[in-house]
Amino acid sequence: MSALLKPAAPLDVAAIRAQFPILNQQVRGKPLVYLDNAASGQKPEAVITAITDCYRGYYSNIHRGVHALSERSTTAFEEARERVRSFLNAASAREIVFLRGTTEAINLVAHSFLRPRLAAGDEILVTEMEHHSNIVPWQLVAAEKGARVVAAPITDVGELDLDAFERLLGPRTRLVAVAHVSNVLGTVNPVARIVALARARGIPVLVDGAQGAPHLGVDVQALGCDFYAFSAHKVYGPSGVGALWGKAEHLAAMPPYQGGGGMIRRVSFAGTTFADPPERFEAGTPDIAGVIGFGAALEWTRGIGLDAIAAHEEALTAYAMARLAEIPGLRLIGTAADKAGVVSFVLGHVHPHDIGTVLDREGVAVRVGHHCAQPLMDRYGVPATARASFAVYNTHAEIDALVAALWKVKEWFD
Ligand code: PMP
Repeated sequence: MSALLKPAAPLDVAAIRAQFPILNQQVRGKPLVYLDNAASGQKPEAVITAITDCYRGYYSNIHRGVHALSERSTTAFEEARERVRSFLNAASAREIVFLRGTTEAINLVAHSFLRPRLAAGDEILVTEMEHHSNIVPWQLVAAEKGARVVAAPITDVGELDLDAFERLLGPRTRLVAVAHVSNVLGTVNPVARIVALARARGIPVLVDGAQGAPHLGVDVQALGCDFYAFSAHKVYGPSGVGALWGKAEHLAAMPPYQGGGGMIRRVSFAGTTFADPPERFEAGTPDIAGVIGFGAALEWTRGIGLDAIAAHEEALTAYAMARLAEIPGLRLIGTAADKAGVVSFVLGHVHPHDIGTVLDREGVAVRVGHHCAQPLMDRYGVPATARASFAVYNTHAEIDALVAALWKVKEWFD
């Protein structure tokens, strides 16, 4: 269990499920079993209503309007920023930048923070378990500057090899970028320890929180990192929005990422000056209703309680690992001691796409493929895995349905 978590009371999962209209349906004649939450989570009524209330009641463009609707939209938008601040326990809402999601947040840091500090021969240290979003943006700036991305190895169970990581922290390391939780292995990385090792050498740390924020209580001040990126759609919010938290001093020193309306102080043909963060990084009209829905999602999540969600998902994960291990020929990929909400596996010689297709016929939605983590697939010598990933609304009975469907896969292919 993560150090951030306190024991929590069990959840009323039936009451929670009732708040997710999409879950109440049959797929291919079977009750839907939605176990693809690491790709994207479903949305409770509270979030759907927050978005439709905005469009039905008070939608308008934000920030520069003097009329009533614009003021209401602006207030709701800025309330969402405060909700993100509180969710992450950031020191100030001015440290929260709204973007399209984790991917855009990492690209912003790569271009605006890292690029000006990068010279030929420099290194960016990541891990072998990263999502492509936490590899490719660094490779793009590295290629431009003659720098390189270095990957710290993981052990066979899927834990970061901390000794090797420490050895790779060198005089040329300009940034460390690690996933809080791996989207394939479910491994919870020891971020506070990673940050301590990096900071001792003056190296800033970005945490890819795409899978951390949905499963763990996040406290960026306790983690001690420099940047934390996450996406709304994996925390019961809408797709297409997310947030970057960055330390105020970093954001203040960073040049704009994109130019346009909303990010300037004064524009003239003689020269333009820029707004302070976070507006400096929010060029153009944002997804206003989406951001408001994001705020509603975090409020909803807070209401359920991250500790309770984490404890529920931890119980589901342990149960799933035990039940899956009963199936002959099934190999679990990722058995770290500290693991959150994600279970990957391969089954004998059956291609994961065939697993996914048979499970779908049983109403069970899982993800199959490389999960945007091809270097990790290479590490385990597999082209792809099947992945079940859990959310607050999943049940033990749904894991039983997954296991029963996997026996059908075996009947088909054995
Ligand atoms: N990092 C991790 C660990 C992820 O799981 C994902 C989403 N699969 C991302 C980054 C990218 O998130 P988004 O597509 O929302 O930008």
